[in-house]
Amino acid sequence: MNSVTAITEKISAIKARIEKAAHRAGRNPEEIKLIAVTKTVDLEKIAEAVRAGAVILGENRVQEAQKKVKSYELRVMSEGIEWHLIGHLQRNKAKQAVQLFDLIHSIDSAGLAEEVNRQAEKINKVQRVLVEVKLSEEETKHGVSEKNLMPLLKKINSLKNLKLEGLMTMPPFFDEPERARPYFRRLRGIMNNINASRVTHYELWELSMGMSNDFEAAIEEGATMVRIGTAIFGERGLNAQI
Ligand SMILES: *Cc1c(COP(=O)(O)O)cnc(C)c1O
Repeated sequence: MNSVTAITEKISAIKARIEKAAHRAGRNPEEIKLIAVTKTVDLEKIAEAVRAGAVILGENRVQEAQKKVKSYELRVMSEGIEWHLIGHLQRNKAKQAVQLFDLIHSIDSAGLAEEVNRQAEKINKVQRVLVEVKLSEEETKHGVSEKNLMPLLKKINSLKNLKLEGLMTMPPFFDEPERARPYFRRLRGIMNNINASRVTHYELWELSMGMSNDFEAAIEEGATMVRIGTAIFGERGLNAQI
C-alpha cells in the first residue's frame, strides 16, 4: 500500500472512531470537527488528505503554513478548505496569521489579543479565535492560566475585530489517554462556568482538545474539534518540530 492510499484509509478509520466515541457519549458526531494537522507534511500528502475529505487543516507555525496556503497546487483544490493555527503565536507574526488563518486556536494574552485585533481591523476582517488555556504546570506549555482567564475574556469582549468561539487546551503527553481525560473534563467545566457567569457577550461553544493519542477521551468529555496529525500522516520523525 503506498502512502497516498494509506492516508485515505487512515482518515476513514479516524472518522469512524470519532463517530463511535460520539455515540458512546450520546453526542451527534456532526458536532465534532476533524482538524488534520499538516505540520511537517508535504504538499502531496496534504492534497491527498483533502481529496479524502479533510476540510480543516491545522498548522502550528506561521511561516510553514504560509508556503502551503499560498501554494498553487493546494489553492486550486482547496476551495472551501479552512486553515487553522493551532500552535503558539508570537505577536510579531500576528499580521501574517490574520491573513492566513480562518481560526486561531492560541490566543493566550491580552497583548496578543490586541495585536491580532489591530491587524484584523486593518484588513477589515473579523478574526475567529479560541483562547488557549494552560491546565498543567509544565513550564514549556503555552496558554493562559485559569487565574488570568477571566480578565483575558473581558479584554477580548472589548475588541471588535475578534470573534471568540471557545477554548483550546493541550494536556501533558501521557501514554495512556485516560490520564488526559481529567484535563478535558476541566476545560469543559471552565467553558460551562464562563457561559453560566455571562462574562462573554454570548455563549462559547467550541472546545478544541484531543490529539492522535487521546481524541476519543476528549470527545467523550465534550470536544468539538480534535487535532490529529500522527494518526493520519504517520510519525513526524525525531527532527520534526512539534
Ligand atoms: C502537532 C499538534 C497536534 C497533533 O498531534 P498528533 O499527536 O500528531 O496528533 C495537535 N495539536 C497541536 C497544538 C499540535 O502542535
